[in-house]
Amino acid sequence: MENLLDLSIGELRRLLDNKEITSQEITRAYLERIKEVDPRIKSYVTVTDDLAMAQAREADERIKRGEIAPLTGIPLGIKDVICTKDVKTTCSSRMLENFFPPYDATVIEKLNSQGAVMLGKLNMDEFAMGSSTENSAFFETRNPWDTERIPGGSSGGSAASVAARLCVASLGSDTGGSIRQPASHCGVVGLKPTYGMVSRFGLVAFASSLDQIGPLARNVEDCAILLEAISGHDERDSTSIPKVSFSRDGVLEKDIKGLKVGFPKEYFIEGLQQEVEEAVKGAINLFESLGAEVKEVSLPHTEYAIATYYIIATAEASSNLSRYDGVKYGFRAKEYENLMDMYKKTRAQGFGPEVKRRIMLGTYCLSAGYYDAFYKKASQVRTLIINDFKNAFKEVDIIAAPVAPTTAFKLGEKVNDPLKMYLSDIFTIPVNLAGIPGLSMPCGFDQKGLPIGIQLMAGHLQEKTLLRTAYNLQEALKLSFKWPEV
Ligand code: GLN
Repeated sequence: MENLLDLSIGELRRLLDNKEITSQEITRAYLERIKEVDPRIKSYVTVTDDLAMAQAREADERIKRGEIAPLTGIPLGIKDVICTKDVKTTCSSRMLENFFPPYDATVIEKLNSQGAVMLGKLNMDEFAMGSSTENSAFFETRNPWDTERIPGGSSGGSAASVAARLCVASLGSDTGGSIRQPASHCGVVGLKPTYGMVSRFGLVAFASSLDQIGPLARNVEDCAILLEAISGHDERDSTSIPKVSFSRDGVLEKDIKGLKVGFPKEYFIEGLQQEVEEAVKGAINLFESLGAEVKEVSLPHTEYAIATYYIIATAEASSNLSRYDGVKYGFRAKEYENLMDMYKKTRAQGFGPEVKRRIMLGTYCLSAGYYDAFYKKASQVRTLIINDFKNAFKEVDIIAAPVAPTTAFKLGEKVNDPLKMYLSDIFTIPVNLAGIPGLSMPCGFDQKGLPIGIQLMAGHLQEKTLLRTAYNLQEALKLSFKWPEV
């Protein structure tokens, strides 16, 4: 048999259903590889060996009984921002270092109902704030393509683990690019769904109007399988879209003739690494040879996206993170004099520097006298950015662009310059502000051998067109697909 660890969800499904292999064998192979390889990548905060083997046993029973769902017996990794009942959920923060949620997130319930296997919880930037996973309070995750480099963030563990074959696929979360940017840097496929398509119940909140859970996987098909599994209306999330559902039927259709693909002129700017520009433009040309119609479009308010995001996201974060006060759960300072002192010491000791920076920025933006100048203004600009996309999608079905201005940078390169770090989010943030779906997939390598991603965006709830377009591009690009040697 081909190397077990190389196989996608679809390929494993066939072997499992034909009884050529068991979920316990697959799961054991992954747990062994985690033991051997993860000390060099450091993608897992927690490995749930016993739970994984128990779930695999149960999955094998289900398969014997013929109760088979697309993810039955498939070992997955979960970003440590998604609540898992009785399994530590840290958000890579000292604040939640010993937090065991009393309930499962909706996405976890959905995976469990299919009989999926959870290998463990994946490292991230603290509370999902960052672009390199260097803000984890515990340790840095390494890029499997070059372990001196960052895997991207904040879902760095989710992307690195898929690339290094430490899980078949994973879940991440994306507030300003945290699925797409690490997917791009690690050479995997990552999807941020339409806002409201996947329930946020049990996703620890960073910026509630932007946060969305999505899959990271080895190929477009696996992303579609995961999206089908986790999407759907949930009454426990008030922003969940009523009656929303996604079926992957038709995603693997090899035909994009007549599809209109736009490339936004504002995304091909100074500071874009030349190899990234060439690879992305090469992929866009490939669309033309597949029969799509390619044209330039304009998203004129792109230049305001970063400023807008870093007001809205920090404002929401400052409010969401006020719950960590040392009273009901999470970290509490050991010594303090009175209640106020307990709050202060708990928050001073429990949060890392980036989280504190965001809380202070956000509190400032929302404070009396500044609210109109910052938060209100940012909300107005957000509407302009939404309208940019609405107008562009009157002309085209898909927008294609880079994911990040450069390939993966070195560990330590930007960590002391927050503004530089923020600026690297320029191409991913507008999608979150507009609430539309965005996908990142590999489209080439730079001269150092680092993966380059292309971003595909579509209108609200147009996931099927998005994934079908991505599938066609993936098939056309197939020759260059490879795995890192770890
Ligand atoms: N890098 C962005 C930030 O630091 C996005 C993070 C995210 O999507 N969670 O806020």
